[in-house]
Amino acid sequence: MTSHPSQKHPLCEKDATKEKAASTDVFVQIKPYEWSKARVLTETESEATVQVFDKSNIGVSIQTVSLNDYPHQRLPLQNVNVYDDLIDLPFLHEPGVLWNLRSRHANCHPYTRSGPNVLIAVNPYQWLSQLYTSKEQERYRHSTNEKLPPHVYEMAQQAYQGLSQQNQSILVSGESGAGKTETVKLCMRFLSQYGDSKITDRLWYANPVLEAFGNAATKRNDNSSRFGKFLTLQFDVDCQLVGGRCDIYLLEKSRVVGIAPGERNFHILHQIAAAGTVANLTSPCSEFKCLTGKRKESDRSDYATTLEALHKMGICGEDLHTLQQALWVILHSSNVVFANDDGRHDSRAHVEDESSITILADLLGVELPFLAESLTIKTMHAGKNSKIQVPLTVEQAREGCHAFAKELYAQAFHWLVEQVNRATTSPNETRSIGILDIFGFESFEENHFEQFCINYANEVLQSKFAEDVFQSLLTEFREEEIDLGVGYDTNRDVLELMSNGVLSFLSEECIRPQGTEAVFVRKLHQSYGASSRFVQGDSQHTFGIRHFAETVIYDAHGFIETNRDKVPSNLLSLCSSSTNHIVNRVALLHGISQSNMVKNTVLFKFNKQLVALMRSLNSTRTQYIRCIKPNLCNEPLKVKDGVILRQLQSSGVVAAVAIARSSFPHQMDHCKIMRRFRCFGARLNASAPTKVQVMCSLVIAMRDYKGPCDETFSDAVMVGRTRAYFRYNALEYL
Ligand code: ADP
Ligand code: MG
Repeated sequence: MTSHPSQKHPLCEKDATKEKAASTDVFVQIKPYEWSKARVLTETESEATVQVFDKSNIGVSIQTVSLNDYPHQRLPLQNVNVYDDLIDLPFLHEPGVLWNLRSRHANCHPYTRSGPNVLIAVNPYQWLSQLYTSKEQERYRHSTNEKLPPHVYEMAQQAYQGLSQQNQSILVSGESGAGKTETVKLCMRFLSQYGDSKITDRLWYANPVLEAFGNAATKRNDNSSRFGKFLTLQFDVDCQLVGGRCDIYLLEKSRVVGIAPGERNFHILHQIAAAGTVANLTSPCSEFKCLTGKRKESDRSDYATTLEALHKMGICGEDLHTLQQALWVILHSSNVVFANDDGRHDSRAHVEDESSITILADLLGVELPFLAESLTIKTMHAGKNSKIQVPLTVEQAREGCHAFAKELYAQAFHWLVEQVNRATTSPNETRSIGILDIFGFESFEENHFEQFCINYANEVLQSKFAEDVFQSLLTEFREEEIDLGVGYDTNRDVLELMSNGVLSFLSEECIRPQGTEAVFVRKLHQSYGASSRFVQGDSQHTFGIRHFAETVIYDAHGFIETNRDKVPSNLLSLCSSSTNHIVNRVALLHGISQSNMVKNTVLFKFNKQLVALMRSLNSTRTQYIRCIKPNLCNEPLKVKDGVILRQLQSSGVVAAVAIARSSFPHQMDHCKIMRRFRCFGARLNASAPTKVQVMCSLVIAMRDYKGPCDETFSDAVMVGRTRAYFRYNALEYL
């Protein structure tokens, strides 16, 4: 990497002869998110002329970069070698980190450490079987003193070893398709060696069940998990794996009734339709309106696999039948068409083709006229004992039917998770390793309620991450016997804006009968307009938040309805009279009185889950795996700098280390310092230098040092027990 390109560009020769060449190699930022290697040809106080190299190391252009305006544009690259751990990079800057990750990725090393508790996993998009053999597992299992290359197995083994002291957790994050779910499976696979195969098999079979019901093909990932999951692996007093259970977050139930072009509904709906197991009630897959997107050859055989996994979880017989019926209800409900007689949008709706609901009534175990009425009429209370029946419009009837289908799917999923947990949970838990597989920070062209929830979770997790990482750096400085005397930025103000601001104002509007999104945004503006984290939107329905990762503008349209998450009351009564106990759950869990309306909102429930999650995580030692996609086309060996960098920034990896190190971003160990600068310190023993010897060498080497703000040696360098830390310009000066 540090070798100089031998080929000279004609322009370079011309320029190089003109003035004295300073032969430093640097990274130059040529576009946002894009750096190139370059050689400094000439340099003045304010600017440098550089020869920029292309990827094949051939000089291609001469550019002038300003040192005053863009000091970051010119970053030294000497010693930017390939490191197992980003902490060892002598220069902690973005191109250096990128360079390191790129080089490792190209050499089939997807994993890189970033300090003791963070692993960066760049998705290889190809199965690197040599990394996951049982021999590799053995190596990591028995590694005691030997430092092995960074690996998911290393994190899992460290978690296992830590069990004797306290519960452990591994938080896996990253954007869709970055490899979170596969990484969790690798952790599980590694930890399975500490359990009986009867137990680990059962734990393993929970995966295909949850994936069939909770995953779908999206544009970014053919098997994308549409829910967040916290898996708890249980260990007994002898640290044997004895069971597991999982908690589920934010299932994307809107997918049941609305699918973006090029995507598919949940796998199981395609599978059951393709297999058509309920005799007489089946229609071919293409006849269900909710099954858009491409058909998969394997849907039918995948269903057999799902059934096998369901059996392993003890879901068979009557229970299985009930579950299947509930899925058929969802499929058939998508075919119900509402119409009205005069074509006016505000006149009463009826079901267009009664035969479409005959099957549905059968499946639900209710009378046909009752179903037809429930779908098209709303009952309202007018005074104490009187009720009035209000006919619904086509639009209202369709929305009600959608709300019902979505909620039924969610209840079927949660019922299933309960069954899986019942089959896998052990009563003998003394210790646990929790593994979180959760969607990363999201920022799209348009951001809705779902993005708000996801980003809220990410802020909550980020605050823990920053604290943990900073804490570990504080520990490093303490071990080096250096008093840093600095604090670090928290994101407490964003969390306050999101929970006290958005959550409570939105709740208020959700319980107010005439509540509107415009009022919600106005209230937010009134209370948080002065907050540096709040960004005013350009309409009465938009507002922005300066997140730790980036600023996101949210469109508040639909916030109230999505957050209220209501199934119309007539459909709830319908559900309670169904003979299907999974359908009954919809009524049971939604039939909460008006006074508890806030408690029934999505954000309130999610916040409660997050609080519980954080409480249990806080009693554990936490390790982090940041999954990163190297490109957007899911191809092996292809790397896009901007894509990686955006994720590094939004996962807060570089920022966290950079914040913590902002005062002393560079470091070098004592031996290296002595090897380099011994000439200044005369006849010192370089093999085991003492802190004082290092200090003396540096004092001599830097006696004339003046930093950009007139700092001298004592401001610019901290010498610790085993290494020295330098301020931004100090190491470069040396
Ligand atoms: P996420 O859960 O982050 O959305 P997945 O774990 O489903 O992403 O991974 C997406 C795809 O990336 C997988 O289907 C697989 O093809 C590939 N992948 C992920 N991790 C690895 C790995 N360690 N080795 C090889 N391929 C992987
Ligand atoms: Mg996933």
